Amino acid sequence: MASVISQLSRRSSRLAGLCVRSLSTSSSCQSSAGVSFQLSEEQEEYQQLARKFAREVIIPVAPHHDKTGEYPWEVIKKAWELGLINTHIGMEYGGLGFNTFENCMITEELAYGCTGIQTAIEANSLGQMPVIIAGNDAQKKKYLGRMMEQPLMCAYCVTEPGAGSDVSGLKTRAEKKGNEWVINGSKMWITNGGVANWYFVLARTDPDPKAPSGKAFTGFIVDADTPGITRGRKEINMGQRASDTRGITFEDVVVPAENVLGTEGIGFKIAMGAFDKTRPPVAAGAVGLAQRAMDEATKYSMERKTFGKFICEHQGVSFILADMAIGIEASRLAMYKSAWEIDQGRRNTYYASIAKCLAGDVANKCATDAVQIFGGNGFNTDYPVEKLMRDAKIYQIYEGTAQIQRLIISRELLTKAKQQ
Ligand SMILES: Cc1cc2nc3c(=O)[nH]c(=O)nc-3n(C[C@H](O)[C@H](O)[C@H](O)COP(=O)(O)OP(=O)(O)OC[C@H]3O[C@@H](n4cnc5c(N)ncnc54)[C@H](O)[C@@H]3O)c2cc1C
Repeated sequence: MASVISQLSRRSSRLAGLCVRSLSTSSSCQSSAGVSFQLSEEQEEYQQLARKFAREVIIPVAPHHDKTGEYPWEVIKKAWELGLINTHIGMEYGGLGFNTFENCMITEELAYGCTGIQTAIEANSLGQMPVIIAGNDAQKKKYLGRMMEQPLMCAYCVTEPGAGSDVSGLKTRAEKKGNEWVINGSKMWITNGGVANWYFVLARTDPDPKAPSGKAFTGFIVDADTPGITRGRKEINMGQRASDTRGITFEDVVVPAENVLGTEGIGFKIAMGAFDKTRPPVAAGAVGLAQRAMDEATKYSMERKTFGKFICEHQGVSFILADMAIGIEASRLAMYKSAWEIDQGRRNTYYASIAKCLAGDVANKCATDAVQIFGGNGFNTDYPVEKLMRDAKIYQIYEGTAQIQRLIISRELLTKAKQQ
């Protein structure tokens, strides 16, 4: 890996040529010549780079970060050097300008190594997405540009102790005072909360409780060192322990008017709109985990013997593996489709929820079944699959729970049915 890193140092012209020119312009997924699953040569090369990075850099240190909860800065810095993080930031702001499909491709590979580390990386995309979709040029230059100059993290602050699925129930308030806004409130479960350089914060700006969500909230970019911000303790979660999740309190936090995203009142739409671009990569993370579970279980089943046979030779075990493969292939296709739709410039809410929901459920089933195939060893921390089972659960919770995805999918399909 060392040689790959030195060959493809972030500033090297080879890497710049590889991803900027080729991935953004000649993507096979953007081809109008019908359906194709053929990656371009450059996409394949980038996929291989991410795969090698997961195998050689992430996997060796993943157990340490899982055990200690230590933030994986050393991995993130290497990923930044190689251009495996912040990949969707536009070229005009120093980024690589990858489309959603390409981001998903990289995310799946990184997740194979450790979804705790991949979530820490992916939380940057979530924090940046409101700025990418609604920021003005000055905001993008300042807040996205700085992330290309050094390895910095950011975070998306929407959920609160009293409101997660029901975003319209947020209590954090922002009041306009002259040319500034003053934010008060508490956010909860914020990934990268303790390490972020800046936050996207959603706050209620219309005090009228009857104001519709589409007009009552505003999105702000808030520098993390602004006086009045208190970062809570790092939460001890069931899985994905390398990732940093915290509560963040805002007490009379003064934000300049120039840090309002879009215009006053459209924050809810911005915050929810970001999910169309971030749910496909979350699905990709779940696919990466499921693939890892299947690979580990397959390998083990070809080494472990019972009743004089390798356990993969028992039909009962091989059918579990077959079901894993069915789920993984289907969720990967759903993830590709959801990414491809938005890359075509079309609204992909329906597909993004299907992909996120299916991949989350499949990841949980595959991880649980991998533990089953490992038998007693599967229940033990010396083997890799118990971590996968703990890590998988969050895919049915964050970025909209499995129930909320079904709510969105059913709403979308019923709306369409009523129009027919
Ligand atoms: C590790 C981790 C990282 C996170 N990272 C972030 C982050 O970076 N930024 C951020 O803003 N948030 C983040 N979250 C928050 C996450 O998005 C929320 O936890 C999630 O949306 C669910 O909200 P909740 O926890 O309040 O559960 P609730 O909304 O209270 O839901 C509880 C249960 O009720 C179900 N439910 C709720 N409403 C309905 C309904 N209408 N129909 C059917 N079932 C329903 C839910 O599916 C769930 O099973 C993170 C959470 C965790 C645990």
